[in-house]
Amino acid sequence: MSLPASVFGDWVRIETEYLQACGLPLWLHALPHEGGLVLLDSGTSITPETSVRGRLADAGHRIEDVSLVVNSHAHPDHMGGNAALAAVSDAVFAAPAAEAAWLEDNDRVITELWEANPDAYRLSAEERAEIAGLYGERVRIDRLLRDGDVLDGSFGRLEVVTTSGHSPGHIAVRDLDRGLLFTFDDVQGAGVPISGSAEWLAPLYHDVDRYRSGLRRLLDLDFAALVPSHGDPLDPAAGRARIQESLDFVDRATDFVHDHLTRHEVVGVRDLAIAIGRDLGPFGGPNLQTVSLARAHLDDLARRGLAGARWHLTPDPTQKDS
Ligand SMILES: [Zn+2]
Repeated sequence: MSLPASVFGDWVRIETEYLQACGLPLWLHALPHEGGLVLLDSGTSITPETSVRGRLADAGHRIEDVSLVVNSHAHPDHMGGNAALAAVSDAVFAAPAAEAAWLEDNDRVITELWEANPDAYRLSAEERAEIAGLYGERVRIDRLLRDGDVLDGSFGRLEVVTTSGHSPGHIAVRDLDRGLLFTFDDVQGAGVPISGSAEWLAPLYHDVDRYRSGLRRLLDLDFAALVPSHGDPLDPAAGRARIQESLDFVDRATDFVHDHLTRHEVVGVRDLAIAIGRDLGPFGGPNLQTVSLARAHLDDLARRGLAGARWHLTPDPTQKDS
């Protein structure tokens, strides 16, 4: 069953430049109302001027009238455009309370997210600069969102559902009047193909239990359409199947990591990330996703008493090999 366009009501779907720039489709959504426009996520630093302004104009609206921006989580493709929007509008910014520190400090989010496992993965100076460029300038968050909060106004009622999972404070947004469930990046299936590449972006999560319980909450909700950021909207049956596929991936990754530990006496996060990127999916070498998966599943096994950490000295990186 395909979705009728009418399921979106007044929502304007904004296709962005992210597919050309970074190899993934990225959709933002704007809801016009008496007092302006609600915008769900802001894209990267360039998205407001590159994609949002023109698409809104085509639909008869002005970017200057954006009155409320809701950020789903503190990744650059979802809140990097905040400063560009603040520069041209009087928008109020709302975002998950649990990620406010990341939303307001680029250095902090880049270090704590990409370099959380420095023994396994570090950014080069160029990679760090590229990510900082996507983040743009930071904007203070005006309204901190918590689970169950309802944003209401002439646009209707938007309910906040904290899923955690894909990022520690990740939220979904339910349009209670139209039955839409915006899941942003939380329902990841077995990953997302990267356009123009043989590789897929692996699912990203940091806490196995939290990711699972967030997905199970979404599975319990009624919706007319499930709307992800990096793919097409799904009808209820396809949406539930996709959530189930996401849960199944977690089970597969759990078994994979456990099996890997039974076959190797000692496992490092980096080596496990490499194995995940090669054998669990075409996910590439050590990267944010594979390293986070490795760490999340080692932590999960450790919490269940099935694995334990061992520390040892590595070669001194300040000493050049002769
Ligand atoms: Zn994203």
